[in-house]
Amino acid sequence: MYAKILVPIDLAHVETSKKAINIAQKLLDKDGSIYLVNVVEDIPTYIAAEMPISILQDSKDQSLAELKATAKAAGIKAKCEVRSGRPAASILDAAEEHEAELIVIASHRPGFSDYFLGSTAARVVRHAQCPVFVDR
Ligand code: ADP
Repeated sequence: MYAKILVPIDLAHVETSKKAINIAQKLLDKDGSIYLVNVVEDIPTYIAAEMPISILQDSKDQSLAELKATAKAAGIKAKCEVRSGRPAASILDAAEEHEAELIVIASHRPGFSDYFLGSTAARVVRHAQCPVFVDR
């Protein structure tokens, strides 16, 4: 069992995330913590330069609200966090900062079952400092 489990959530595919949250719940210590992390991908600088700065913040605020709703729908208390950057690198940073003992991640987006691992999952598996549970 694990005291700190990180579950990266792709808000475009919440159904997949629900399965990962269920797995995390089963593997969690009684007083353990689940961290739900979503990564809002960076907008290329040449586009960002033309956009009001509030748009990125609005998108992070909306993602945080969706993460909290996902936790509520799953009936769990989780620490929810939105980061910006590249998904795999940001997930790995979050895991190290929170000293996660386990990462639970889906192998790929739904419908891409021919792929063994999606690009984010593959990078997380390859570079994580802690065990990674890959749900297929
Ligand atoms: P694919 O390449 O098929 O889209 P991914 O490897 O990107 O597959 O997705 C697998 C899992 O990686 C997702 O279920 C989620 O756990 C995690 N993930 C992908 N993108 C993000 C993101 N932007 N924020 C948080 N987690 C993500």
